[in-house]
Amino acid sequence: MPDTETKTYIVEHLDPELGPWSELEYLAIARESQAAGAHFCLSSLPAEFQVPEALSAVPAFRAENRGVEELYAADKSRVCLLDPAAAKDLSPEDGDKFDAFLFGGILGDDPPRDRTSELRKKGFEGRRLGPVQMTTDTAVRVTRMVVQGKTPLNEIPYVDFPELKFNEHESTEMPFRYVKDDDGKPIMPEGMVELIRKDADKAIDDLF
Ligand code: SAM
Repeated sequence: MPDTETKTYIVEHLDPELGPWSELEYLAIARESQAAGAHFCLSSLPAEFQVPEALSAVPAFRAENRGVEELYAADKSRVCLLDPAAAKDLSPEDGDKFDAFLFGGILGDDPPRDRTSELRKKGFEGRRLGPVQMTTDTAVRVTRMVVQGKTPLNEIPYVDFPELKFNEHESTEMPFRYVKDDDGKPIMPEGMVELIRKDADKAIDDLF
């Protein structure tokens, strides 16, 4: 019998390679899934894909070369696609209806290019997480809070488009919605602020 209690978060890898941003996002998803008693599956990986050691060290994590269509061919109706263009928002009841939650393994872009449409075409039932674009790890975090934590979408504390201040002169605005922590700060994967800062420094260096 399928285990309908344990939730699986699937990120279908859609970018050609695994950049450092995605790596940090996936590691955060893996560790949080582990802590929540859930599974995290990274699907559609190219055969030559090298899974980073830190990721494969998390027991809740599974790497899959097969795509989600093949993995869930027999039980498509149990998979919910988190889709910014879906007509209906995710609700705690969806935790009873679905056991797998599917996300696009795409870095956020501004303005959004709707690459989630690649998954929409496959015919999974879709749910939206509100009108604002989230990073992939935030989308998984919010989904878990709704379907496992039973918190309605509109009761989750968010921070939209936060400004990361690196020093007196340097700051950058993130064009996404994040979950707010107890100190009012956006929850981001470990190491992400440092990476953003390095990328911002590089962009400035490239100007000269
Ligand atoms: N700009 C993107 C696009 O091209 O579709 C959005 C990518 S977002 C960074 C990565 C994934 O997080 C999406 O494929 C979707 O599964 C999920 N996601 C992000 N924000 C969402 C929202 N407001 N509603 C539903 N899903 C969302």
